[in-house]
Amino acid sequence: MRLSQVVRSGPGQYICEAGALNFLDEKLRLFKNPVIITGEKSYEAFLNHYRGELRLPIYHYDGTASNEDMARLAAAIKGADCVVGIGGGRLLDTAKGTAALLHIDYIMIPTVLGTCAAYTPLSAVYHPDHTFKAVEYYERAAYLCLMDLHLLVESPKSYFMGGIGDTLAKWYEAEAITRHVDDNDLSAMVHVGLKTAKLTQEILLNDTKEAIASLERQEVTPAFARVAEAVVAVAGTVGGFAGEYGRMAGAHAIHNGMSLVPETHESAHGVKVAYGVLVQLMASGDEAEVKKLIPFFDENNFPRRLESFGVSKNLPEAAAEIAEFAASEQETFHLAVPHITKEAILQAMKRVENLGRVEVLQ
Ligand SMILES: [Zn+2]
Repeated sequence: MRLSQVVRSGPGQYICEAGALNFLDEKLRLFKNPVIITGEKSYEAFLNHYRGELRLPIYHYDGTASNEDMARLAAAIKGADCVVGIGGGRLLDTAKGTAALLHIDYIMIPTVLGTCAAYTPLSAVYHPDHTFKAVEYYERAAYLCLMDLHLLVESPKSYFMGGIGDTLAKWYEAEAITRHVDDNDLSAMVHVGLKTAKLTQEILLNDTKEAIASLERQEVTPAFARVAEAVVAVAGTVGGFAGEYGRMAGAHAIHNGMSLVPETHESAHGVKVAYGVLVQLMASGDEAEVKKLIPFFDENNFPRRLESFGVSKNLPEAAAEIAEFAASEQETFHLAVPHITKEAILQAMKRVENLGRVEVLQ
């Protein structure tokens, strides 16, 4: 059975609180030779908050999240029984892949709030030249996911925005996929995943504004804690239970199309995915839901027009290019809207673009 189809309930242990790094020493007591894999900035952030006694061997990754770097690290790390990954998504993915090669446990300590990598037993793997290669699933889940809210409330806002945008898509993509499936055909565990997806949406819509304000003044508040957990743990739970029904759909297909447009390269993955949510909803006939989301986009400064991503002169060409790519066979828009066409996506994009103003894209 493919690991992507197996229910994965989450890490063995999960701790999320202010000062959580204080638990690291006692959690490592079971291990004889733990080692750290980290990056430079992320290790600095860790040291700013770690008050423990341990001085573990430290290995640095090369920033690629490639199989080549995982193999290099696995060869360099001798006799370890646990990998402690400290960093962002690519670093954590590298640490997981290295631990898998060594057949040992791993502990995940996220230093940014950009992805659910700290919670999930899989890695997005890249080639050494930074192009995407594949998603790899691992037999072992993390021994522990340790989120220190004191550390995370000092993390960069750009990652947090991306994490929120990517998590917003969880519900809208899962709902669109399962809309075409009879409820009776879904297992109880898939329903757990779908209810969890709905929970991510509720937390984000209620708490994002306050959570971003908390991060800006570096103060841990209940709203910040809830959104941080939604981005890492709750989002990670959706795919773990809903499996194929909790996968990427229309919003990510729009994101992938946007990668063809250089103006959007500056924007975080999740910020583009959030725009894709609007296009997907418009294409599936849910204009009322789009209108409900507009205040969320505006009050939290999520761009909701290509223009806001910096696309101006070539707007019609860029929109057509994105629509064509997103509608293609190998992309996932059709999971949200079966038999979707380039024209229908372009039409949806135009309606999103023109919401609330005189038409600029005709
Ligand atoms: Zn994503």
